[in-house]
Amino acid sequence: MSDLVNMKVTKAIKQTMPGLYSVLRQIYWMSRRQKPLTKLLGAKWQRSRDLIEVYITYKCNLKCINCDVSSRQAQSDEKMTIGQINKFIGESINAGVKWKKIRVMGGEPTLHSDILEILNLLLNYKETYSPDTRIQLITNGFGKVVNNILSQVPEKIEIENSNKRQPTSVFQLLILRLRIVYLINLRIIQMRVWLHHTAE
Ligand code: SF4
Repeated sequence: MSDLVNMKVTKAIKQTMPGLYSVLRQIYWMSRRQKPLTKLLGAKWQRSRDLIEVYITYKCNLKCINCDVSSRQAQSDEKMTIGQINKFIGESINAGVKWKKIRVMGGEPTLHSDILEILNLLLNYKETYSPDTRIQLITNGFGKVVNNILSQVPEKIEIENSNKRQPTSVFQLLILRLRIVYLINLRIIQMRVWLHHTAE
């Protein structure tokens, strides 16, 4: 019951205040993977053999400072081809793998020129071979081009939209700076603890 209430509250914030939701979500994600919380609650990420993340492109229309796939620092035109997606699906079927979840990621995956074809191929795998597979498209939701593609995505694809924005206002820049200061401070504290332990 409380999970249901939490989900409804989260959904309501996400829909009515996407900016606030995005900031809170990022604070949660940054904090949840720090040592004190992982010690208390366990590892944030568990290894899984049922879930696969497919990085179809490193192109992106944003330049986030904390980009974890280096799309900001080293954008590349490299991308997965339709042939590679077909090969992945074929190998999954031949090996009898029914993925619990397939996450289509980037960069910004909607900027891949064949994104809709890729999603339809994955949907076909789901519908003909593995009906319980959840297919998720992970997007930053930024800009007209991205949103135009999002509006054409088949209904059965789940869209995980982080609603990222280019920091333009003073408030957004302030939040960004606070996040950087927060991360630097954490690193300094961790380094001090590490030096203290190695000196003992
Ligand atoms: S939107 Fe994602 S992939 Fe693009 S720069 Fe930001 S973190 Fe990197």
